[in-house]
Amino acid sequence: MLSYRHSFHAGNHADVLKHTVQSLIITSLKEKEKPFLYLDTHAGAGRYQLSGEHAERTGEYLEGIARVWQHADLPTALAPYIEAVKALNPSGTLRYYPGSPLIARHLLRPEDKLQLTELHPSDFPLLRGEFLKDSRARTERADGYQQLKSKLPPPSRRGLVLIDPPYELKTDYQAVVQGIQEGYKRFSTGVFALWYPVVLRQQIKRMFNELEATGIRRILQIELAVRPDSDQRGMTASGMVVINPPWKLEQQMRELLPWLHKTLVPGGTGHTKIDWIVPE
Ligand code: SAM
Repeated sequence: MLSYRHSFHAGNHADVLKHTVQSLIITSLKEKEKPFLYLDTHAGAGRYQLSGEHAERTGEYLEGIARVWQHADLPTALAPYIEAVKALNPSGTLRYYPGSPLIARHLLRPEDKLQLTELHPSDFPLLRGEFLKDSRARTERADGYQQLKSKLPPPSRRGLVLIDPPYELKTDYQAVVQGIQEGYKRFSTGVFALWYPVVLRQQIKRMFNELEATGIRRILQIELAVRPDSDQRGMTASGMVVINPPWKLEQQMRELLPWLHKTLVPGGTGHTKIDWIVPE
């Protein structure tokens, strides 16, 4: 079943959180000269037209990136992410939103590499088209979880692995933990970043328990909720689980999260959270 299309959700509050964390990790990895791999297991289409039928229908980006990208008091730590958004919108009107592969493309150096997988029959050709002329990138129509076995460790022994499934299958909540275990076995020094939605809090608690049971250490949780937890349908919050986060990330997000919450949720509902699921 592949009914999920990210184009309905591109640029929403969850993307803002995810791509903020992604860009901070990439910026930290660039502090060392040695090249690294950016592996995106669920890459999506790459570029999303915000005036397109899908994004217009939900209007989610209006309560997401539209509230942030031209803010007068933008925190400096957000600059790399927002530069990637601006690069797609040089006219100053928000027409396109860069997905995680395009944010990485904007931030990576000539010597770094991108490995991008996407399964959807409509989204994969769009992704491939974006990267045809980028010799750093390899795109594959393949199962993202398999990549955690076949592409790790990278020859450079440095990297960020972004795992961002649609969770349209309940089994995704277990598959991500198994995938992380497989990836970590092969590449225990890598940075792994997992995105999660909070629809039913119980599912996330179970997923965290399973993550803890893997024995992996240094697991940081970063969460932004726009509404209180609920047992009704719909996503109330989203978060990132980061294994082996760069040392600055916790402090950077402690400073950024209150600003992001205030800007994305003017009504002030919901919460923010940073916590170690498993410390050092
Ligand atoms: N990472 C993207 C971003 O931040 O711009 C968004 C990805 S979207 C949340 C999830 C994507 O995973 C969808 O485009 C979906 O088609 C794709 N997908 C679903 N199952 C997959 C699998 N097993 N392997 C690779 N891609 C998959």
